[in-house]
Amino acid sequence: MDTIKDLGEFGLIEKIKNLFEQPKDALGIGDDCAVIPIYDKNILVTVDTLIENIHFFSNHPMDKLAYKAININISDIVACGGIPRWAFLSLSLNPEMKTSSLEMFLYNLQINFSKNNIFLLGGNTTKDDKLSINITLIGETDKPILRSSAKENQDVYVTGKIGCAACGFWALKNNVTESNECLERFLAPKARIDLIDKIKPYATAMIDVSDGLLQDAIHICTSSNIGMNIFLENINLCKSNHLSDIDKITLGEDYELLFCAEKKYRNSILKIGDIKLIGQTNNSKKLTIYDNDNIVVPKQYGFTHF
Ligand code: ADP
Ligand code: MG
Repeated sequence: MDTIKDLGEFGLIEKIKNLFEQPKDALGIGDDCAVIPIYDKNILVTVDTLIENIHFFSNHPMDKLAYKAININISDIVACGGIPRWAFLSLSLNPEMKTSSLEMFLYNLQINFSKNNIFLLGGNTTKDDKLSINITLIGETDKPILRSSAKENQDVYVTGKIGCAACGFWALKNNVTESNECLERFLAPKARIDLIDKIKPYATAMIDVSDGLLQDAIHICTSSNIGMNIFLENINLCKSNHLSDIDKITLGEDYELLFCAEKKYRNSILKIGDIKLIGQTNNSKKLTIYDNDNIVVPKQYGFTHF
């Protein structure tokens, strides 16, 4: 373990978690948000960073970048069963950046804050060669839905279509044409705040799909100490032929919701719409992927930074 690369993103997070004492009266490192119980509510806190040429290309339209910056954070709040309320915005800016460009970003960010009833409470501004956007988002919920509360013998569901954002990213990187749907899903992903009230009564555990569906399924398995079977043919996969089915479920950035629920709620959940039943939990403590009865063993399970 000479370098950060050897440790990996999740190894590093584990190291940090072990080094810093975690509180007994709040949920710290390990879920989509920290959960801080206050009186009869739970405050949810999440932070995400977007860095130029890592998370977005230099020509990313500023209105879509603003939409993406807030939606990737809203997605974590929603994944914990909450609604967003307050935000802090930290910007690192290149001094040569056009003011009109920054204004376009801020104007659209404000529109999205206002649409979602989010208030900007503060932030930080620094200089850097590359544009970087960091939003801390605070939300609230009466009932947090965690990664750690799935049980064996439950259904596994995922909302929406999986793989479009990865195909959109691939097409932009390789300068090839792609459907507007895929490009839009990468450039301006939408958090599934529209579905949260309908899912919340049933979800026992939930995560948003940001690192890749398989990796995020593993996060639920590890946190809940369970296993899972996932059936590839049941996933609503993007139709683009730019990437393989396995790439589509491992490259991430979908910002859809992956959740578990008791089998008795199957009909009610499927009636909500735009939700697929993709698997079941079990006691195997590992994730098994089936493609029409054949077990598939992917080379990688998801995106990590190192
Ligand atoms: P997500 O993909 O939902 O944003 P991450 O994989 O980024 O979640 O993070 C998983 C958990 O690790 C979260 O609880 C997050 O707060 C925590 N975490 C990530 N990086 C750090 C860090 N540098 N220091 C402390 N906690 C971290
Ligand atoms: Mg998340």
